[in-house]
Amino acid sequence: MLRGIYPGSFDPVTLGHVDIIKRASRIVDELIVGVLNNNAKMPLFSVEERVKMLKEVTKDIPNIKILPFEGLLIECAHQVDAKLVIRGLRAIPDFEYELQMSQTNHKLEPDIETIFLTTSLEYSYLSSSTVREVAAFGGDISQFVPKAVAIELMKKMESKGEY
Ligand code: ADP
Repeated sequence: MLRGIYPGSFDPVTLGHVDIIKRASRIVDELIVGVLNNNAKMPLFSVEERVKMLKEVTKDIPNIKILPFEGLLIECAHQVDAKLVIRGLRAIPDFEYELQMSQTNHKLEPDIETIFLTTSLEYSYLSSSTVREVAAFGGDISQFVPKAVAIELMKKMESKGEY
């Protein structure tokens, strides 16, 4: 059985992430979506909120589990017995960072391989940070994130008094 892990901040999950999740879930027998709990990054949504939104938007995918994690990715991969790390690639800046990360992880744990799925063209511009920015100024984010996430984002911005 091949288990893969797709790690990220997902702050919040976008349609680009969902696209990678769907495609990755067809490659592996079981896909773990690892939600990074890193308070140093000052996330907009708590890890619990991010996990909840991911569960909601992936509820129709049978072979998927959403788990929070802290610390080293390869430690988490070990714990869940995932032999494959899956990452999405949008453009050249992603590539430079991702290459470095995957080579470091491979040095630390040679049994774990990283594979990259290139972004679908319609989502290549999309990132959680731009979605947060547009939402903070009251812009329409409905074409960037699943509906349930758009609702949570609007609630969050209201609670922060952003608009
Ligand atoms: P972001 O960079 O948007 O803050 P994350 O840190 O949560 O996102 O990224 C998790 C993974 O998803 C990374 O491998 C990242 O390259 C990938 N990813 C993010 N947005 C997209 C997208 N629009 N299309 C494909 N992959 C993406």
